[in-house]
Amino acid sequence: MTEKRFCLQCDDGTELVHDTRDMVISVDTLSDTVPAVSGWHCPVCGECEFDEGEAQRYADALAEMRKSAAIRQGQALRAIRKRLRLSQRDAGLLFGGGVSAFSEYERGKTRPPKSTRILLDLLGRHPELMDEVRRAD
Ligand SMILES: [Zn+2]
Repeated sequence: MTEKRFCLQCDDGTELVHDTRDMVISVDTLSDTVPAVSGWHCPVCGECEFDEGEAQRYADALAEMRKSAAIRQGQALRAIRKRLRLSQRDAGLLFGGGVSAFSEYERGKTRPPKSTRILLDLLGRHPELMDEVRRAD
């Protein structure tokens, strides 16, 4: 193959290599491999200019992983909320987002704000702080 392509991500003249490679994808703590992705791969930064059809396969795998991550996160959030003995409604009013926010978070429909995730994680480990949170409301 005589065609040469250069990595736009590295932007320093790094030459891409046309190849078929397994590509690792990760979302939150999940990680998986999209097998045999053909395209122009950067040997330095891992960027890939996909061959036809491959971008869709890669995007589909990533979308599926995001869905799984959102569901796992929702289940974790639900477990913490139950440990704190809060209804979905009360949690939505206390932490913001409205009465149906936790229903959506827990089903993986929407992601809670980062501050909510951090606070809930903290309260899950220190439920004794709930009294202070309620006083601050
Ligand atoms: Zn690169």
